[in-house]
Amino acid sequence: MESKRTLDSHTILYGVFGDPIRHSRSPIMLNRAFQETGVNAAYAAFHVTQQGLGDAIRGIRSLGYRGINVTIPHKVEVMQYLDEIDEGAQVIGAVNTIVNDAGRLIGYNTDGIGYVRSLKEETGIELQGKTVLLLGAGGAARGIAYALAKEGAACIYIANRTKERAVELAGTIGGFTKAIGLGLDELEQVIGDAELIVNTTSAGMHPNVDELPMSADLLRSHHLVSDLIYNPRITKFLRVAEALGARIHGGLGMFIYQGAYAFEYWTGTPAPVGAMRQVVEQSLAE
Ligand code: NAP
Repeated sequence: MESKRTLDSHTILYGVFGDPIRHSRSPIMLNRAFQETGVNAAYAAFHVTQQGLGDAIRGIRSLGYRGINVTIPHKVEVMQYLDEIDEGAQVIGAVNTIVNDAGRLIGYNTDGIGYVRSLKEETGIELQGKTVLLLGAGGAARGIAYALAKEGAACIYIANRTKERAVELAGTIGGFTKAIGLGLDELEQVIGDAELIVNTTSAGMHPNVDELPMSADLLRSHHLVSDLIYNPRITKFLRVAEALGARIHGGLGMFIYQGAYAFEYWTGTPAPVGAMRQVVEQSLAE
């Protein structure tokens, strides 16, 4: 239910720190969530440079901000300023959500779990026992590989343009499930086993919309093909996969659900996901 909001001296404050930040859709999404649930809160975007990060984090405590999201380029650097880091964020090596618990700053990473919640709710997939092919080994891949392992994926192949990064990530994820690092030229040997293929690379993202993260010849109709990119909403990789008869899953849900988890950590209230999605879709269409 939508309710009227008034900012007053009880308003609880939230925000996002990043550089650049003016493109961020987190403020419209989270403010819509507060409005929908009738929480007296406000969420703003802060342009925080690398040099200003330490002061900005200390400001969370001194100004009594209840929660902060952290985005590019601060997700790794921010960790040194926090009092506690959740196990998942430690393994991933990055934080995107800070909870201020009475002056104690706790860091979480909601990207990977947000992705998995979106994948399960939008496709109905059961991840237990599945074999997954992850394309890419960057920051987003780390969170997703960890979340998929925690969901019980039986084997995760990680293939990256720079093979060493894939092997290094497979070493970390190997503590949670079977994980194998590969180069992009080794896909033919493993792709037949994979049920889920996830593009975590930036190949295909605006403005390089004609790029593919792997050769489309290897895709089959039994694959569920997922792409983290949501600009464009449906990438060329997903269009090609769909034309081959494969099921597809786009990246917008990951953005919505990483914000939904942050909202839930901060407020203890279930996130109004439908309203959050509606306002982001509307903003992307403008
Ligand atoms: P990142 O840390 O910079 O990693 C980029 C990855 O893409 C690396 O594995 C890189 O390989 C690979 N790559 C880049 N260009 C490539 C190309 N032309 N061909 C093959 N591989 C290529 O970036 P990130 O933060 O992980 O983000 C990756 C993507 O996920 C971006 O498109 C981003 O928009 C998307 N994302 C979406 C959400 C969401 O909410 N939906 C959240 C986070 C990220 P090398 O190691 O060889 O350089």
